[in-house]
Amino acid sequence: MKILLIPSTVTSAAKNFKEVIINLLIEHQCPQCGAPAILEETDRLFACQFCRVNSYLMTDDVFHYLLPHSPNENKDIVYFPYWRFKGMLFFCGPSGILNRFVDVSHQAIEAPSFPSSVGVRSQAMKLRFATADTVGRFLKPQQCFDKFLNTFQERFGKSLPKPILHQSSIGETLSLIYSPFYLTDRLYDAILCKPVSTKLPDDFNIDNFSEDHPHRHIQFVSTLCPNCGWNLEGERDAWVLGCKNCNSTWYPVGKKLKQLKFAYFPGKKDEAIYLPFWRIKADITGINLESYADLIAVANLPKVAQSGWKDIPFRFWSPAFKVRPKVFLHLASQTTLSQPGEKLISELPAARIYPTTLPIKEAVESLKITLADFMKPRRTLVERLRDIRIDPKSVTLVFMPFKEGHHEFIQPDFHLTVNKNVLALSKNL
Ligand SMILES: [Zn+2]
Ligand SMILES: [Zn+2]
Repeated sequence: MKILLIPSTVTSAAKNFKEVIINLLIEHQCPQCGAPAILEETDRLFACQFCRVNSYLMTDDVFHYLLPHSPNENKDIVYFPYWRFKGMLFFCGPSGILNRFVDVSHQAIEAPSFPSSVGVRSQAMKLRFATADTVGRFLKPQQCFDKFLNTFQERFGKSLPKPILHQSSIGETLSLIYSPFYLTDRLYDAILCKPVSTKLPDDFNIDNFSEDHPHRHIQFVSTLCPNCGWNLEGERDAWVLGCKNCNSTWYPVGKKLKQLKFAYFPGKKDEAIYLPFWRIKADITGINLESYADLIAVANLPKVAQSGWKDIPFRFWSPAFKVRPKVFLHLASQTTLSQPGEKLISELPAARIYPTTLPIKEAVESLKITLADFMKPRRTLVERLRDIRIDPKSVTLVFMPFKEGHHEFIQPDFHLTVNKNVLALSKNL
């Protein structure tokens, strides 16, 4: 067994992060040439070192992994399912917003005889994708993921001041991990070959569990532009791929690539990198927030309303990259309050582009928390937040120019800074 360590620079930055975040490693084969490869959990674009073919990794629901067991001749292996969640939880109470970053696993079947979580092993071992040809008995998950997530939100919410007005989970990596066991008079962990229980209860019968038949949940698709056939570009963890030939961007929907609306703010000469943001137009009910003038009122900004502000439509903004929760919320609020209105150009910028790693769905989850972050005075939260509905209507991916300083990227027009170290660490979120 190989213990995986994250690079030391990341570890030292992670100290103020409370948790050390580890990316799972997954063993698999190149879909083209069969060469063995190791993927990181966050990898989407796979470039084979042997046949040089690029492919994009997709799943029809969530990734199904299994932990490989040591050779146990003549043992009938039983794979027990665990949900795993990695992401940010936000809780909004009367006095403000609290956040937690969590990386947790829990039984997908309520079964006291089995360990309640995968434990730290999933972070210390290489996993494989569960496939139809895996030998063993797979137990069928009984608890749905939402219930699992609710349990965790409740647990984290217990210690928080009441009432909790709104909560959301963002940037989530959700997967199902099967862990191997075998049975004698006791239940054995098939990785460690050690019993996990003393004696099993008399009424324990493995045949009482429903069986599942794993199928291939993943697919590697070609990274040729569906529009012009050119090679799509992106970094290994990119959720959005770009075509520089026909100026298009693409994101996964089910097992297909779909075209995405995008644009950039023209930067000045010294701007070094473009960071992606989601700009979201939404129908909002329960509060009057349709224009820039409404935003000034809702956020109680010290500005004198000018004529014409009523005609500037309000839009939400959210980072389109994973970053620690506090920074994420700050960037979302700050950009939304700024309402960048500069003229956009519907092309990929020529400079360096930071990869889009936060899917639209996750950005949409963040909208109400962003609103709660800037609503003033705070007491209006208790009165109004629960009744507010936000229904996203259209989304544009906007690349925003940042200058490069020693330690951070800086966007002077909207007063945004992103620490480079924090950004590097966030790659694993
Ligand atoms: Zn290959
Ligand atoms: Zn193209």
